[in-house]
Amino acid sequence: MAKKEISRREFVKGIAAGAVGIAGMGLLSACKDGPVAPTPEAKGLYTPGTYTASAAGYHGEVTVTMTFDANAITDVVVDASGETANVGAAAADALAKQVLDAQGSAIDGVTGASLTSGAVRTAAADCIAQASGGAVVAPAPQVVEQITVGPDTDWLGKAPEIDESAIRETLETEVLVVGAGNAGLMTAARAAELGAKVLVVEKAVSSMTERHWIGAVDTAAAREAGVSVDKDKLAAELCRYASHRCDERLIRLWLDHSGEAVDWYAGVVKRYNPDVKLHMEWDLGAEDHGVYHVVPTMHNFQDDIPEHDYSEATSAYGLSSLTTLLLEKEGQIRYETVLVKLEQNTAGRVTGAIVKDGTGYLRINANKGVALCCGGYAYEKTMLAALNPCAFQSTVEADATPLDTGDGIKAAMWLGADKDPEATAMLFDRGTIAPGQLSDGNWDKSGYFHLGSQPWLKVNLRGERFCNESLPYDFVLHAAYMEPEHLYNTIYDSAWMEQIAHFQAIGCARILPSKSGGKLQIFSPEAEMGLLMGMEQAGFVQRADTLEELAEKLDMPVDTFLATVKRYNELCEKGRDEDFGKESERMQPLKTAPFFGCRQGASLLCTLDGLRINTGMQVLDTGSNPIEGLYAAGDCSGGFFAHNYPEYVVGVAVGRTLTEGYLLGQKLAQA
Ligand SMILES: Cc1cc2nc3c(=O)[nH]c(=O)nc-3n(C[C@H](O)[C@H](O)[C@H](O)COP(=O)(O)OP(=O)(O)OC[C@H]3O[C@@H](n4cnc5c(N)ncnc54)[C@H](O)[C@@H]3O)c2cc1C
Repeated sequence: MAKKEISRREFVKGIAAGAVGIAGMGLLSACKDGPVAPTPEAKGLYTPGTYTASAAGYHGEVTVTMTFDANAITDVVVDASGETANVGAAAADALAKQVLDAQGSAIDGVTGASLTSGAVRTAAADCIAQASGGAVVAPAPQVVEQITVGPDTDWLGKAPEIDESAIRETLETEVLVVGAGNAGLMTAARAAELGAKVLVVEKAVSSMTERHWIGAVDTAAAREAGVSVDKDKLAAELCRYASHRCDERLIRLWLDHSGEAVDWYAGVVKRYNPDVKLHMEWDLGAEDHGVYHVVPTMHNFQDDIPEHDYSEATSAYGLSSLTTLLLEKEGQIRYETVLVKLEQNTAGRVTGAIVKDGTGYLRINANKGVALCCGGYAYEKTMLAALNPCAFQSTVEADATPLDTGDGIKAAMWLGADKDPEATAMLFDRGTIAPGQLSDGNWDKSGYFHLGSQPWLKVNLRGERFCNESLPYDFVLHAAYMEPEHLYNTIYDSAWMEQIAHFQAIGCARILPSKSGGKLQIFSPEAEMGLLMGMEQAGFVQRADTLEELAEKLDMPVDTFLATVKRYNELCEKGRDEDFGKESERMQPLKTAPFFGCRQGASLLCTLDGLRINTGMQVLDTGSNPIEGLYAAGDCSGGFFAHNYPEYVVGVAVGRTLTEGYLLGQKLAQA
């Protein structure tokens, strides 16, 4: 195999895409006009052997192992097992092949797996440097994208013009579903079960993993357990959360049909996994959780959740069962196929879409309709910063799906669709960055601090307490947005394990079985301990023998912080929070050294504002009229949330997504 020299164009491409510095490339030397490839010496380009290097990907380290003979790369193995299963990890083989084919690190990468691709470029460049005797120097720091915050950005752009001659093939179906995620697979499987011809296109290399906490009302399991929910009260609560900038009819659609939808979903899971026990769980009796109303709606699919592994446990059953049903009913899924734009006839009816796969453009005609189920726009930073500046500026870490880039919302808006007026992001108070860092739009140098949702003392960067810490996840972040740099520090001490028993956190913040009946826990205290040690080693959690030292490590004014802790401890002794009204059992003093703290901002999970739809999931235009043939469900659609995610109505995000998908599948089959 001939060694391919790295051209200047490829080198620049490598820099732009993979952030590999000149020194990091090793293979190259610099000259006035730019770097050039060295002339191969007679003895060959490489010292034959196998070399390994790692670089930071999306979730963790990506390791590349490369074997060289004197003049060529002969084998490449990429270990991306720590990356998102259906994105980065699934791209590993393709990336390895790209490096081998390119005989270098300047590869195109895999669409959607940009961070994993970048890590492979960096690690491959490192291996090449080792093999060629170049000095291995740390890659140049990643350039933080310059993103305009606020409305002065053309985030929407225009529908791309695709020349007819570029369309390679036309496919016919009845129902086209865009996105093989929670909404998409529910829509597709239900429609196929009822006899429709269904084609799903999905940007990733495999289907999305399902969600763990599914909010549903009046499931068979709930009725059996005697759990009832006051639907009017719950509707009022959800509307209040949205300041009524929502469509109450959509909320009532979920209230009235989520039981039926989740029962059907559970039935599909049972059909293909007869031994799986379906588990129902709720925080009964927790209705007066602080001043916030909590509703028992949680439902999920397995009885035992291995610690650390809850998402894997659920993904084994739910969406894979829907996929099996879909395929059994002769539905199809085309992976690595991206929606480019929608198509309309002269009467304005959506007739299908232009999509793109590795071979080029395809036209898909769908005579019953197109269902946009391609998620929100959490990873379209320009759109997020324009529509939701507060969320963008609060976010330090993203646990979102990297492929959810607002494609469906944009494609429908290019046809005149309306969108929610208010932006809504699902933000959890679990993002953490090192003390010297700010929330600058770079989400790659951060950690996920699961204990962040525990109501310990929280202080702004000046060391002052600023709110009752006993708040739903995003409310703490909203309060912190009003503080300097929009960030804060969470402070705890060595008695933290005992203290969390007093906190009785609920939903996915729960560490211990709750007094109110909920037994699921995401991580046990022991598992949390392991996570904390990891966070400490990574430089996010600070440990100190004294409070003074902790203030210094957290880069806060020492005197102010000491005065804050003194006052806080006095209030804890009194058992009454005279300053912010936190419940007395949650007033736990900071006394037991060593002390701990970390700088926090938001962890972004998804966006929840989307296309305006009616109760038939038809996408509405700006005159509130349905666009015939066009439907949306899940995060791509709107009308349900505004400003906040009501976290204490646990699982309502995916609960409404699955419900909309179920009803939409039914409707499309009958169209
Ligand atoms: C880590 C995490 C955990 C969560 N846990 C919970 C939970 O426990 N309970 C809960 O209620 N909510 C949870 N959520 C939120 C929940 O996932 C969402 O609110 C929602 O249900 C997502 O469903 P969806 O189908 O709209 O989008 P997704 O499930 O994100 O699916 C969208 C799919 O569309 C694909 N796609 C995107 N663009 C294109 C395109 N142009 N062409 C083709 N395909 C495309 C994507 O690759 C993806 O597979 C969680 C979110 C995250 C990120």
